[in-house]
Amino acid sequence: MAEIIDGKKVSTDLKLELKEKVAEYGKQGISICLAVIQVGDDKASSVYVRNKKKACEFIGIKSLSYELPESTTEEELLNLVKELNERDDVNGILVQLPLPRHIDENKVIKTINPLKDVDGFHPASVGALSIGNKGFISCTPYGIIELLKRYNVEMDGKECVVIGRSNIVGKPMSMLMLRENATVTVAHSHTKYLKEICKRADILIVAIGKPKFIDADYVKEGAVVIDVGIHRNDENKLCGDVDFDSVMPHTSAITPVPGGVGPMTIAMLMKNCVNAVEIQDIKGKTK
Ligand code: NAD
Repeated sequence: MAEIIDGKKVSTDLKLELKEKVAEYGKQGISICLAVIQVGDDKASSVYVRNKKKACEFIGIKSLSYELPESTTEEELLNLVKELNERDDVNGILVQLPLPRHIDENKVIKTINPLKDVDGFHPASVGALSIGNKGFISCTPYGIIELLKRYNVEMDGKECVVIGRSNIVGKPMSMLMLRENATVTVAHSHTKYLKEICKRADILIVAIGKPKFIDADYVKEGAVVIDVGIHRNDENKLCGDVDFDSVMPHTSAITPVPGGVGPMTIAMLMKNCVNAVEIQDIKGKTK
């Protein structure tokens, strides 16, 4: 019988643990502050930003909110990021993506001080992850590792197939699985014999961006399946990249959509904000 990996519960547990940790830091005179910048009023981005601020409030992290108009120039945004880089009272800087077209996202990401890059998108954070140095880790793949660990899924020596090679999910996911000593294969849109490759996986992580693409034919009996995709189907219901009903009976554990990977992303952003205390060696500085 497949175990349903409950991301909602794990994210709630994690947020409660982080709340305690933040309170503990508070007693030591350490406070944590996240600056969130949104440019324009994209509806989905506004929901994400609101949820991030709510999570900060729950955990006891101060949040500063910058809601800039769509007409903001690249230079104005870069200047704000530089100003926040310099502020000792700001530990994390998050620029909500996507940005309006006239702003170069890569340039903005590269301007964030890597020591405050709580999204883990800066090239220095990505590099640190690939060579095993301390740094911020992209929240969605970081959340998947947290789920696997809390459900005691053995990764060491296991065959892991990651479908997707995006900078925010597939690539950091494969690096993290390597760090856990899995044997990792990364599949993508040019991969041949995808079914055969997926069938080898003890752990199959799907970040393909296509609703219900993966059915039972892609899954080895007893595999653990992690579904990163989020889509709305014709009936306005959420579904993932995995055809849950067909795949679930063949797995030993699987994440549902909704309620699997999704809730972990903001929880891990909060974990990154708390990790900032160590990454910035704030304790050392207050001694
Ligand atoms: P993306 O579009 O950037 O990347 C998709 C990847 O899938 C690409 O690397 C591509 O090569 C690969 N791909 C496409 N078609 C393929 C095929 N036929 N065979 C094999 N590989 C194929 O997407 P992304 O940003 O990595 O996101 C993937 C999914 O995860 C999306 O549904 C997205 O909405 C979701 N997502 C969820 C969260 C979350 O918090 N749960 C976070 C980020 C992304």
